[in-house]
Amino acid sequence: MSVTVRFAPSPTGNIHIGNARTALFNWLFAWKNSGNFVQRFDDTDLARSKQEYADSIQYDLHWLGIFQDVTEYQSKRFDFYEDAVARLKRAGVLYACYETPEELDLRRKIRRTRGLPPVYGREALTLSHAQIAEYESDGRKPHWRFLLPNFESDPMQPERTEVSWNDLVRGEETIDLASLSDPILIREDGTFLYTLPSVTDDIDMGISHVIRGDDHVTNTGVQIALFRALGAEPPEFGHHNLLTAVTGEALSKRTGALSIASLREAGLEPMAIASLAVLTGTSENVVVAPSMSDLAKLFDLGATSKSAAKFDPEDLKTLNRDLLRQMPFKEARDRLSALDIFDEQAEPFWMAVRGNLDTLADATTWWRIVKQGPETPLDLSEKDKAFVREAFDMLPPGPWDRDTFKPWIEAVKEKTGRKSKALYAPLRIAVTGLPSGPELADLLPLLGPEGIQARRP
Ligand code: GLU
Repeated sequence: MSVTVRFAPSPTGNIHIGNARTALFNWLFAWKNSGNFVQRFDDTDLARSKQEYADSIQYDLHWLGIFQDVTEYQSKRFDFYEDAVARLKRAGVLYACYETPEELDLRRKIRRTRGLPPVYGREALTLSHAQIAEYESDGRKPHWRFLLPNFESDPMQPERTEVSWNDLVRGEETIDLASLSDPILIREDGTFLYTLPSVTDDIDMGISHVIRGDDHVTNTGVQIALFRALGAEPPEFGHHNLLTAVTGEALSKRTGALSIASLREAGLEPMAIASLAVLTGTSENVVVAPSMSDLAKLFDLGATSKSAAKFDPEDLKTLNRDLLRQMPFKEARDRLSALDIFDEQAEPFWMAVRGNLDTLADATTWWRIVKQGPETPLDLSEKDKAFVREAFDMLPPGPWDRDTFKPWIEAVKEKTGRKSKALYAPLRIAVTGLPSGPELADLLPLLGPEGIQARRP
């Protein structure tokens, strides 16, 4: 079976790491199955949807390494939805309702006090022509509900009707259609809610697998019924757990918290974000995958847990450091160049400092330290300064390489009797101004005899 998936955000804000989880699950699923990825913007809400959000979502996805085969905008597909509406009306499964929200609320309360489930009682089906005419002349506009197939012959007598699917993440799932209200597909003002356009598109675009957050599990029962009412076999479904803050709080597009844009601005690497977004809440350890194909190897829908995927944004920093620590120079080269780090020392410099970076941009600090010297006053006692001078004097003539360090430090140790921190810390401070950082063995060849002389305290 050929695989086609879709990622279908509403362009009403910037995507956050939780949305990225859904996009990546779809992308990696398509990757593993040589499938297609449809980028669909669910922008039927013309008032809240903005092209600039669609553009920034697109930018974020490409930045993360997700590239679509097709892009679709629902706002350009209203004809298809009108056609689906006509078919449902012809089949007698889309009916007009005139209740106001207050009336519906009151009905729900009454049902509750009678011990009935608070679902819509289909009263609109019993309206006479005269009542409808009266509503219309009062200026009431209908909203339209989909008649769920949960009855034998009388819709006013719904019966337990199970809809089941084998969820790619959650296993066997069953929804009783009698436990649901007939969903509203079209509002009073004629605008569509999400359900009908989504199902229409899933059919037209040949979506084989719908992979999305588990906040949509209940929608799936309705959607399966709608697929069938529109004459199509439903696709496969997989509902993954949602990413939440450690406190359990849900992420929201509106607040902008943990947006992909803000993480990018904070200097985090796309693969660090992608690794956390995909591996949290699965049976895999959360480690950094250096490339999308590495991440694809670790990705398994079936290994996703059913409970919320709690994560700590601090973990992103750790993954980012891990990623930089193993990033080959050829991958960093252009970005270092953009930071003005490009001479013949760029490669050995990168290999020396990459294990000491929170973000790639931090390399500029080390580049200045290597090229221009320490940036902070040296925190060294007179005794330490004398020791550093003595040690520097013992260095062999250049040129130096990585092997210069070991015999030299052994000799210094022998001669001065210093060891561990008393031995290394003053040397490191004299060279960089800082108490920790890249290996001295790597710094020596970068600085050369001239650089060391310039640092003589
Ligand atoms: N636009 C919907 C959402 O963002 C899509 C849900 C789905 O994947 O069906 O929640």
